[in-house]
Amino acid sequence: MNKLAFAASLLSCASLLVACSDNSPPTSAIVASSDEQCDAADLVLHNTTVYTANDAQWTADAVASKDGRIVFVGSNTDARRYMCGSANVIDMAGNTVYAGFTDSHQHLEGIGRRTKTLSLFGIATLQETVQTIENWADTIPEGEWVLGRGWIEREWTDQQRFLDKSDVDAFTANKPLYMPRADGVSALVNSRALELAGVTRDTPDPEGGRFERDLDGNPTGYVLANAMNVFRDILPPETDAYLKDNLLRGLQANAALGWTQTQDAGMSYRLVDLLQEIHAEGDMAHRVYAAIPIAEASEMLSRGRQTTADDLFDVRGIKVFIDGTLGSRGAALINNYSDADHNGFMNRTTKEELVPVLHAALRQGIQIETHVIGDRAVRTLLDWYDEAYNAVPRNEWASEDLRWRMEHAQIIPPSDQQRFVELGVLPSMQPSHGIGDLNFAPDRLGADRLGYAYPWQQLVDQGLMILGGSDAPVEAGDPRIEFYAAITRKRLDGTDGPGWHPELAVSRATALKMFTLWPAHGAFQEDIRGSIEIGKYADFTVFDRDLMTVEPQAILTAQPVMTVVGGQITYQNRQ
Ligand SMILES: [Zn+2]
Repeated sequence: MNKLAFAASLLSCASLLVACSDNSPPTSAIVASSDEQCDAADLVLHNTTVYTANDAQWTADAVASKDGRIVFVGSNTDARRYMCGSANVIDMAGNTVYAGFTDSHQHLEGIGRRTKTLSLFGIATLQETVQTIENWADTIPEGEWVLGRGWIEREWTDQQRFLDKSDVDAFTANKPLYMPRADGVSALVNSRALELAGVTRDTPDPEGGRFERDLDGNPTGYVLANAMNVFRDILPPETDAYLKDNLLRGLQANAALGWTQTQDAGMSYRLVDLLQEIHAEGDMAHRVYAAIPIAEASEMLSRGRQTTADDLFDVRGIKVFIDGTLGSRGAALINNYSDADHNGFMNRTTKEELVPVLHAALRQGIQIETHVIGDRAVRTLLDWYDEAYNAVPRNEWASEDLRWRMEHAQIIPPSDQQRFVELGVLPSMQPSHGIGDLNFAPDRLGADRLGYAYPWQQLVDQGLMILGGSDAPVEAGDPRIEFYAAITRKRLDGTDGPGWHPELAVSRATALKMFTLWPAHGAFQEDIRGSIEIGKYADFTVFDRDLMTVEPQAILTAQPVMTVVGGQITYQNRQ
């Protein structure tokens, strides 16, 4: 602060001295007295432990912000000078404050969409499944669709039969219902949906599909394959209003979990434009950093980078897909799968398609984010990145600071880990994928390759910054689960399995950086956010316990207390 501004703030507090005392709870003990300096902040969080993610000052007692930026990090005593004027002073005793958490890889619209669709995966009985549908249907207004997915009768322990309309009609009289089975090629519908679709006992089965019927020939409400189409045709259309509502719900759901930024790995321009509207309307509950899918690369390259002055929304990357996933044996491996006689596939994007995009990205300063899972996909993309660097003369690059990313990068032999360092490539990884995939990875990969699968600590040992993410809605998208998975490398019930390599888990300090400072680096934002330091944006995540010291299992039940983005409280648990 320059001298003039400092003098002005002193003056304004002096003239408001009464208000200073009256508005700052608790009273005299902590309030700046008239002979102390007064430098009113907008927000002061004090009487707590603040984990800054800044090595130079790892913890503090209090933090203060003004005009969206951090103005103070330090002791409770020194924080007093900011607790005056109209400062919102919050005693954080019993809670813990962290640098704002960032999810480095998720799909925002899908997070919001998920809140409108019931998941029936993993329910143990038919009775519970029907009860779950009833509870969900009760929350849906009359006339609107009751949507869900994922029921699977062969895993039920009470009865193993297909659901039909008689299971659900009693509580969905005026609400059409459509719920695909887990396989996605058959579905449950109710009487109201049959009526809206005009399906009766006289309706013939379509080519390649069937309406299941009772002995009298009436449709039962279990429909197969192409018979699902008549219902899909009358589902609510994906209008701009529908998508925008999904984005809004996604923002709110993320903020309620403690995320202060999410990095979207493939946001179409239709969604970008809707999010711009949300931004203009002041409804950004957290920051968004986005990459455009390669299908829209030419538009990205003509529009260029788009960013808002408040850094709430930044579009700077192109998202590329290369191979499949390990579970489905679609990840591209150098050698064959240990449990199949092939090595997966790649070329979801071909080299021919990608090379011109890489060259243009170098010339325009666009970040590349590539989905690569198997070691063959990783190695090939390292080659392609390297070739592009050499093909475009340096004096034609927009910047030497590329920070091209690899998303997932699950299997990386040591020699290629070193190439990440040499080429300046950032690994963007999801700890929850690790603890899920390790259930089948030993079968898919065998013992040797497991030694460098999900190799978090090896990468950190190389000096690499891992951008931690969740890939929600594929995963839950919960910072507690990601943090827990990163430090334990165990299932949520605390168990692990043979070959899981516990030594590849990371320390809590590393995990904190994976979800704060390092993602900021991955978005070229380490100078403005990612840690709690004076001058950076006031982005904070508050939980009701100390994630850095509690028993690992207690991390999973921590309650998000408050989320702060640019000094604004975007979520607060009122309980
Ligand atoms: Zn993804």
